[in-house]
Amino acid sequence: MFRKILVANRGEIAVRVIRACQELGIRTVAVYSEADRDAAHTHLADEAICIGPPPAKDSYLNVANIIAAAIVTGSEAIHPGYGFLSEDSRFAEICQHYRIKFIGPKPETIRAMGDKVQARQLAVKAGVPVIPGRDHIQSEREATAAAAELGYPVLIKAAAGGGGRGIRIVHSETELIRNLSLARSESEAAFGNGALYLEKYLEEPRHIEIQILADEHGNILALGERECSVQNVRHQKLIEEAPAPGLTPQARERIARSAMRLCAAVGYTSAGTCEFLVSRDGHFYFIEMNTRIQVEHPVTEMVTGIDLIKEQIRLAAGERLSIRQVEMRGHSLECRLTAEDPDRNFAPDSGTITRLRLPAGPGVRVDTHIYEGYWVPPFYDPLLAKIITHGRDRNEAIARMRRALREFVIEGVKTTLPLHQRLLEHTRFVKGDLSTAFLPRFLAEEYQG
Ligand code: ADP
Ligand code: ADP
Ligand code: MG
Repeated sequence: MFRKILVANRGEIAVRVIRACQELGIRTVAVYSEADRDAAHTHLADEAICIGPPPAKDSYLNVANIIAAAIVTGSEAIHPGYGFLSEDSRFAEICQHYRIKFIGPKPETIRAMGDKVQARQLAVKAGVPVIPGRDHIQSEREATAAAAELGYPVLIKAAAGGGGRGIRIVHSETELIRNLSLARSESEAAFGNGALYLEKYLEEPRHIEIQILADEHGNILALGERECSVQNVRHQKLIEEAPAPGLTPQARERIARSAMRLCAAVGYTSAGTCEFLVSRDGHFYFIEMNTRIQVEHPVTEMVTGIDLIKEQIRLAAGERLSIRQVEMRGHSLECRLTAEDPDRNFAPDSGTITRLRLPAGPGVRVDTHIYEGYWVPPFYDPLLAKIITHGRDRNEAIARMRRALREFVIEGVKTTLPLHQRLLEHTRFVKGDLSTAFLPRFLAEEYQG
């Protein structure tokens, strides 16, 4: 096992990784930007090194400084968390070069699956269904012909997109033409890669994803699914749960098998997630793979009793998967509390948290880095806390979430807390009648009403 790990991230996930390391008896090194001198992860780790000014490109994306920090502290491995460098195959390669273990899959796997077009093609090869689409869109003529064949609406997607960015819906040829070059330049600027593809737009699908653990000895395990259909208009997840309500055991089994087949085909190692959309008529389609730990991993931890971060670290150390069978217990929900204003199209907010009371009690877990007096910097992801509940069944998990949201007090920045409180009361949510159209429709109704 590693003796020392550098955590190349910030916020709640850096805290989460440090906690896992401490339980494993591994020393930790935090890296922090000048804006994060007083951040929780900076103080929780055994050592902390400043890696640059606040903007992410100068600090949490500053590869030279992070590698130097790992070398001077004698860190044997780097945990990248999610976002930042977690899906940067070049960074994983540089780690390899310096004999530092990158806690994630092999660089070539990150590269292959990080290109969503290539991932689609690998899925097809592995016999996993994908959404009808056109893989490489070079010219306007090619795009209009493909879209006419697919039938509008279609999505223009960036091959390198992620985090809900790089997706545009178009309803007609005029809109397609108008958006194509915009999408290309935007994607070029945001991801350094202008490659685009088209996908048929599915009406009101559900987002279902499968958690995977795979060791370096060829063993692959699926740890059930997560339902992540409650998304805002920018395709960002707000509420996740496990298991997915109303999914039949057969459907669950088929989706999980597909995910495992794809992972086996690409020689996947480490923790990862295969994302699928399930159409209203019950067909499922692979959309992408995230080759990292995900924000919503705790709901899987709650129902399986497995610590995914510790497993991920063990796998990186070359250990064999020791879990043979996964037993699911009860139901878990997660609400992502962000510093965003739902009334202003989820505009991010920044400022000092003047008052804070975190919920607790039976079946409630809060993964967070915030504290009273904490200044929410404007430079990074707006995630403030993940409120996670576990219950014997979905109703108990919901009741506990409602209670936890009532206990939660946060003042000083605009947050999504009031929105979550209203969502948890909505009859469709309570019934588990979910699709990606649920939240946009809910917001439109509220706005009109
Ligand atoms: P999850 O897939 O775990 O639900 P999100 O999609 O919410 O995670 O993304 C988690 C974090 O990673 C966010 O900060 C998001 O902005 C960032 N992220 C994900 N993919 C990319 C990408 N391709 N480029 C830049 N940032 C990304
Ligand atoms: P990202 O890399 O940003 O996470 P994904 O490809 O995973 O992008 O898609 C994010 C979300 O966008 C999905 O969960 C879904 O809500 C929506 N979406 C993506 N593809 C389609 C599609 N073909 N039809 C309808 N919705 C889609
Ligand atoms: Mg996705």
